[in-house]
Amino acid sequence: MAFSLPPLPFDRTALEPILSAESFDYHHGKHHQAYVDKVNGWLDEKGLNGKSLVEIVKLAKDMGDKPLSNNAGQIWNHNFFWQCLAPEGSTKPSDKLAKMIEASFGSQEELVKKLSAEAVGHFGSGWAWLALAGDKLVIISLHDGETPLTHSDLKPLLTLDVWEHAYYIDYRNARPKFAESVLGKVVNWDFVSRNVEGDAVAAADLPAA
Ligand code: FE
Repeated sequence: MAFSLPPLPFDRTALEPILSAESFDYHHGKHHQAYVDKVNGWLDEKGLNGKSLVEIVKLAKDMGDKPLSNNAGQIWNHNFFWQCLAPEGSTKPSDKLAKMIEASFGSQEELVKKLSAEAVGHFGSGWAWLALAGDKLVIISLHDGETPLTHSDLKPLLTLDVWEHAYYIDYRNARPKFAESVLGKVVNWDFVSRNVEGDAVAAADLPAA
């Protein structure tokens, strides 16, 4: 048995010109696929058959298995990230999320500015996150393949991939332009809103391989 790369939840041309079909061919088709292949190659060797992706991510952290943590975390992070994206203007925050954003940041524009600043300020590879800590919205960033699902105090709501592979095709080295464009224009606010109430961790899980 093996995990399969989940298809993108939209057509690969649906987010152009913010993110091109070519960028998805590489980011989803090559990078995300490579993390899936890597973990599949360890399933027998590390005794992981019959475990879901989320179970593997948690187990890897408990075992202190860094390579498995990073690769399995990257599968989950990318599964989650694709769902955070939608064509421009097609979604908006629920009333509940809109009120939370206003209370914490003043406005959606201000949230986008702060999350972009976190993404741009993160040194090296990693991910910028909007998460719930208790009932409070927080902005954080995590390194490499680290994932909030192993932080029991954090519920992930929205993320931006800030690995160079996420933006080099469309934006070259311009991480600020990438962050502002994606977060300002193609966030799937319906998905972010659902995560406030629902099981955000399960949303990006893969069934037992
Ligand atoms: Fe990535």
